Amino acid sequence: MVSVSKGDHVWIDQRTGTEFNVEIGARVVATQAGQIVLIDDNEQELHFPAQTKFRSMHISSIEGVDDMILLGDLKESAILHNLHIRYKEDIIYTYTGSILVAVNPYKSLDIYNIKYMRQYSNKKIGELQPHIFATGDNAYWSMQRYQHDQCIIISGESGSGKTESTKLILQFLAATSGQHSWIEQQILDANPILEAFGNAKTVRNDNSSRFGKYIDIHFDKRGAIEGAKIEQYLLEKSRIVSQARDERNYHVFYCMLAGMSKEEKQALDLTTASDYVYLNQLDGTIYCDSRDDAKEWATIKSACKVLMFSDEELNDILRLLSAVLNLGNLKFQATTTQNMDTCIVANRNVLRLVSKLLKLDENGLCDGFLKRTIFAHGEAVVTPLNQEQACDVRDAFVKGIYGKMFIWIVEKINSAIYKPQDRVAYRKSLGILDIFGFENFQRNSFEQLCINYANENLQQFFVHHIFKLEQEEYDNEHINWKHIAFEDNQRILDLIASKSLNIIALIDEESRFPKGTDRSLCDKLHAHHSKNENFIPRKTDNNINFGVRHFAGNVFYDCQNFLEKNRDTFSQDLMKLLQESQSKFLRNLFLNEFHIGTETRKRAPTLGTQFKKSLDSLMSILSACQPFFVRCIKPNEYKAADNFDRALVCRQLRYSGMMETISIRRKGYPIRHLFRDFVDRYRLLAPGIGPSHVEADCRAAADKICKNVLVNQDYQIGRTKVFLKDAQDVFLEQAREQV
Ligand code: ATP
Ligand code: MG
Repeated sequence: MVSVSKGDHVWIDQRTGTEFNVEIGARVVATQAGQIVLIDDNEQELHFPAQTKFRSMHISSIEGVDDMILLGDLKESAILHNLHIRYKEDIIYTYTGSILVAVNPYKSLDIYNIKYMRQYSNKKIGELQPHIFATGDNAYWSMQRYQHDQCIIISGESGSGKTESTKLILQFLAATSGQHSWIEQQILDANPILEAFGNAKTVRNDNSSRFGKYIDIHFDKRGAIEGAKIEQYLLEKSRIVSQARDERNYHVFYCMLAGMSKEEKQALDLTTASDYVYLNQLDGTIYCDSRDDAKEWATIKSACKVLMFSDEELNDILRLLSAVLNLGNLKFQATTTQNMDTCIVANRNVLRLVSKLLKLDENGLCDGFLKRTIFAHGEAVVTPLNQEQACDVRDAFVKGIYGKMFIWIVEKINSAIYKPQDRVAYRKSLGILDIFGFENFQRNSFEQLCINYANENLQQFFVHHIFKLEQEEYDNEHINWKHIAFEDNQRILDLIASKSLNIIALIDEESRFPKGTDRSLCDKLHAHHSKNENFIPRKTDNNINFGVRHFAGNVFYDCQNFLEKNRDTFSQDLMKLLQESQSKFLRNLFLNEFHIGTETRKRAPTLGTQFKKSLDSLMSILSACQPFFVRCIKPNEYKAADNFDRALVCRQLRYSGMMETISIRRKGYPIRHLFRDFVDRYRLLAPGIGPSHVEADCRAAADKICKNVLVNQDYQIGRTKVFLKDAQDVFLEQAREQV
């Protein structure tokens, strides 16, 4: 702690309120009348008594650094401060070692034009200011140079800028590999289609991706794009039938209704958005100020043409979309039959319309909503459904149709852009992962469990990679270092999905068990795991929730609807009916389902199993690649420019795994100086080292300085750098000031 004078930079510890309050940077603007006046990073004026002592700021934090690994004060507050001062100057990109940190500016910056693309093409990382193009460029050239597959893993919360970053990298790659080819256009045009069907306005983001994706771009020997393949993960299907306050359904519905002509709509029995329950319920909204739905429709249609959707296919999709909207308007009226709660269809005209659109038998469809067939001892027993059950059957049916359609669309896109491996002589790939970040809401359900499980996997991958890099650096420098102990999150992964009787397996087991309920599932989870260190038991036996200690924090999951969500299916009666549809398109969507058959014991794989399988395959692809990491950060909750919410950013930094990089580094030798830099800075600390010395002497000079100042301490002289502990750096700085 030091006394300060005007112009000094210091840290102020005002740790009150939330756990995300950390020290804030400030500069002394005046010392007057018994007071010290400071302005902090939030531009707030602070007053302290004249005698107050402060912790002074390291020079690296005062000036700000491009790579935060170079911060003298390698800790959370310094990282936050560094990001903040850069953000104020519209510098949104910063490195932390090999990670690119990107703060969403929420305004358009003129840093993505063709001039920038050219500038960043074929440069070494660090040669220019940090930039998303630099990451793209680095991955591209590494692929070319080492003939090794690459991947760029983009993560962050909803609204932090993952999808925009993905698009920027794609544009950069198209420009850099520069063929202006049809295939490049097709890959770029896949986006508007995917976003139409898989993105929606949410409270966090007007264009929120409600699915994860991995775009693998394939290059030929010359480095030109020759194809690509898109993998999708876990589309949020609940949104199709209901939305939260101020949120919308998928863009495509509004675009279609705003963009089609009256005649086109008439032909599909469509009217306007306000007529459809699925687009207008509770507190949902049909508006989204930042988007032009009608204009977007034209873009979607032309993109579909580019991706080779035939007119017939497009029409089939539109019919399904219309069927979905009309199904939402289908009403059931409660009735009583023989003392049982039953129901009937209240608006038969809507049912007729839907059966026409789906090319299904009207009476069969009606029965499908009102009754359920159960097979017991090889005998079919038909029971009537009540109003609520009928609505549930309808909603599940709609989700099933939309979900399959989404998968079909991705496959259709792939059929245009993907050339199977055996048809090409040479291929290297560069994949971009745009996937939901860690989620912890008021109420967390099965989807959050899957998403957080995915993030645990990515976190492990990340930590292993960072650790490997550290090890390589030490090896390259030929310095001996005791094996740094590091812990990864394997035990959490074991608990969720690896060890026998893991959470996903128990959910599956209970989903297949005819008498299983969400409660019996919750009991089972507790019976098996309540002693597990990463499992947090419910507070009382009445609750049906449980908690998991994730790497990014504790999350409580509400088991309600877990089984239904995991089963991921709908009425077997309706499934059977679909086989009889006159629409080949619709029948094809469910082809795999039909194979499994309705009466056999074999069932379609559960959502949990499907997700785990696709995630496993993703992880094995990523493991074969050289990875790059982009951590997107959302500066505030208001989608606003020039607004940096420190607590919000701090929380994201903690969840991002960036702290792990730092902690791994801190366990070894966090401070590194190239010999010349080191000697330039500290030469006065040892006798007889002149200002001008040749490169070859630097190592000896550095050694001499260390021996003189850090007597008997644990530092290392590598091949090109001095490796120090934090405390030694502080000590050297102090010694330097005293000379
Ligand atoms: P989600 O998880 O909800 O899909 P996301 O991380 O993909 O969120 P984006 O859709 O990429 O978030 O970004 C949200 C919005 O932030 C964009 O629509 C855009 O308005 C703004 N934005 C993101 N990145 C940038 C950028 N580099 N420059 C300007 N604006 C940006
Ligand atoms: Mg997105």
